[in-house]
Amino acid sequence: MPLVASAPGRVNLVGEHTDYNRGLCLPLALPQRTTVTLTARDDGLLGLTSAQEQDGWEGSVDDRPSGWAAYVAGVVSALRNDGYDVPGFDAKIDSDVPLGAGLSSSAALECAVATGAAELLGLDLEAPDLRQRLVRACIHAENDYVGAPTGGMDQTVAMLGSRGHALLLDFEADAGPSVTPVALPLADAGLVLLVVDTRVSHSLTDGSYGDRRTESARAAEALGAASLREVSLADVDRIDDPVLRRRARHVVTENQRVRDVVSALGSGEWQRVAGLLDESHTSMRDDFEISCRELDLVVETARSAGALGARMTGGGFGGSAIALVPAGSLDDVRRAVTAAFVDAGLREPLHLVATPGDAARVDSVS
Ligand code: ADP
Ligand code: MG
Repeated sequence: MPLVASAPGRVNLVGEHTDYNRGLCLPLALPQRTTVTLTARDDGLLGLTSAQEQDGWEGSVDDRPSGWAAYVAGVVSALRNDGYDVPGFDAKIDSDVPLGAGLSSSAALECAVATGAAELLGLDLEAPDLRQRLVRACIHAENDYVGAPTGGMDQTVAMLGSRGHALLLDFEADAGPSVTPVALPLADAGLVLLVVDTRVSHSLTDGSYGDRRTESARAAEALGAASLREVSLADVDRIDDPVLRRRARHVVTENQRVRDVVSALGSGEWQRVAGLLDESHTSMRDDFEISCRELDLVVETARSAGALGARMTGGGFGGSAIALVPAGSLDDVRRAVTAAFVDAGLREPLHLVATPGDAARVDSVS
């Protein structure tokens, strides 16, 4: 049997654009995964194919491929830079994580490759800190090799996610996020976390995501703060520039919403969780300005059709929204959202049900 490794997509319950602001977020690993089948080769080259992409790629890491192969070559390059003697390999990739839907197919791909590479090297995935090191390599791949200026949420949850749990991630420290599993007993509460992929493609490399990152840094700088993590709501009011003030207000209130959702989950107050999801959406739509017509349509329609609360999720400008739905209303909500898209002349959206899945793992070894 060949070496097969896999890693999950993720959906973020709350805490958007907070990771690179040294803040908090609460993602969960999805049951949808990206699988990579690896065979070592002795010429040091990579030979890559994906069931999701027409063109394969073969070459050396130094060739710096563009397109999807960069996610794989970037991980190999980052691991080699970190001192791991990763051999060349052939990799066959397949995935049921939708691509470009804000559900982090990119981190699923990176983390599946990093996990497979670790196994090729004979490393013990459960050794202390190895998963964190792989996370850092995957972040390097995405930031420095692909050129997508994302924070570390996606790779952290793909590598460290825990079945039945969301992960509270706190990015305050330089060394990397602290990770605390938070139980998410959706089924016990009679609830479903519905994910709606609008199929409006977002691109993290087209500049809008990076603009928010720059604006966040400028807002902190306007207050003489190292990051928006240290800033209070009273501080935010002292920012003169109205755009930067709104950006900062989103980040500061969003961090608080993450804390509040964790506390509401702890006491089983799902209605309160739902209200916080609604507030998060308003903040992203009006203050951070990363929503779009299709995301707003999902959120409003889902709520009218019986969802307790809903918000866009992921980097924004397209991608997916989530809705917290009583199990008995799931079909109504799905139907209503699809009908609203058809009425508006939009492509039918894709529906997924999110249950918290497993972290990256080796599935079989040759
Ligand atoms: P998201 O992570 O939200 O799905 P990104 O824009 O960050 O969106 O990453 C999507 C890109 O990652 C794809 O356009 C492709 O280049 C690459 N990718 C992800 N999954 C795969 C896959 N299974 N096969 C090939 N490339 C993939
Ligand atoms: Mg991504």
